[in-house]
Amino acid sequence: MIGRRNKLSTKLQALVNNFRAKALIRPREWNTECGLCNARLITSRANNYLCRSCLADLPYNNKCCQRCAVPMSQTVSICPECMSHPPSFDDSLSVFIYDFPVDRLIQQFKYDGHRYLCKPLCSLIIDEFSAQTRDVEAIIPIPLHKKRLKERGFNQATLLAMELSEQLDINLRTDILLKPNPNKQQATLSKKQRIHNLSECFQINPKVRDLPRRVALFDDVVTTGATIEAAANLLKKKGVEYVAVWSLARTAKPKNK
Ligand SMILES: [Zn+2]
Ligand SMILES: [Zn+2]
Repeated sequence: MIGRRNKLSTKLQALVNNFRAKALIRPREWNTECGLCNARLITSRANNYLCRSCLADLPYNNKCCQRCAVPMSQTVSICPECMSHPPSFDDSLSVFIYDFPVDRLIQQFKYDGHRYLCKPLCSLIIDEFSAQTRDVEAIIPIPLHKKRLKERGFNQATLLAMELSEQLDINLRTDILLKPNPNKQQATLSKKQRIHNLSECFQINPKVRDLPRRVALFDDVVTTGATIEAAANLLKKKGVEYVAVWSLARTAKPKNK
């Protein structure tokens, strides 16, 4: 009985999410008011959703580790964690700290099915990324397991990566990194154990013969870094030369190291 009820609730949740996502897709070119404070909006490429004051107040991740992009209190090149345990990826770019109001916008996009926020969110980060593409040949979004994908109705990382790929003219590759297995319970595990568990969730598609040499892994938010480390490690083991980690936002403090 419990299994049946769980199944029904998952299916219903998927239907609800799909309906909400479809109902809320609408063009925002006609926006005349700031999405955060309702001030009158003068639209431009980099400013089609927020007013100038709100744009200036966003929590930009200016002081951070060059390798993992974890926010720091001062400008240093490498954080102590990356110094003692160098990650598999080569560098990171997270434009924002995962803090208000960016966290709210991402949550609305991701959990409330507000898919129309994809373009505005992308417009907030595009200039930073276009300045630092570093000869990346492909953008690889972090995949969702099919059950999660069905519940949410879309992969937020793929939608954002698709938009970035179009604007930066870099290939989007959703065929390389697969997630055949769901995440296991991770709450009480150390970062090392999380990475080990996550590497068992991901797989490099055996059907893909020639992997690109230089890739950017993309996720909407990087939290502990365990997910991207597991994915980057797999790519490096398969011979990818350079792996960058790109994301919209980075949480201020990893919960588990
Ligand atoms: Zn505003
Ligand atoms: Zn670091």
